[in-house]
Amino acid sequence: MVDYGYTSNTSVNSNRSTAYGSEITKGDRMGYKFGRRSKQALSNVDQQLVKLCEEVIQHIDFSVIEGHRSLERQKELFDEGNSNIDGVTEKGNHNYTPSRAVDVVPYKRGTNPFDGTERAELEYYRLNREFQRASRKLGLAVTWGGTWNDPLDYPHYELA
Ligand SMILES: [Zn+2]
Repeated sequence: MVDYGYTSNTSVNSNRSTAYGSEITKGDRMGYKFGRRSKQALSNVDQQLVKLCEEVIQHIDFSVIEGHRSLERQKELFDEGNSNIDGVTEKGNHNYTPSRAVDVVPYKRGTNPFDGTERAELEYYRLNREFQRASRKLGLAVTWGGTWNDPLDYPHYELA
């Protein structure tokens, strides 16, 4: 699995911090809200993917950890061996403006999405079910990095 350089941190795992926070919204609808970090990550992302994320969060809690990725950051990930794409000879979907890819992690209290356990994996699959359902509903063709082998990339979704 890709190491995004986001270390597991207690604000993600145990205490819901406002940075990642989503709250159950008032009203009849079951639903969650994006926290500040997620909104920021979605700020430079293709509107189709934004709509997709907004649909999914009505049904399951998750955070958007990355949208648009600068060439500097892409190079950094490449140099660290965390991406096969250097951003120069080959452009990744995160490198477009707006971004054609998002990285998302499930939010489940007591589960660390970065620890590589089976439990964490199951949460990515649960989240993916909602992404698939929502992309059908919106008529979007989206590719999930969880279906890839090199690298296996559970957080990654991109416009196909
Ligand atoms: Zn990605």
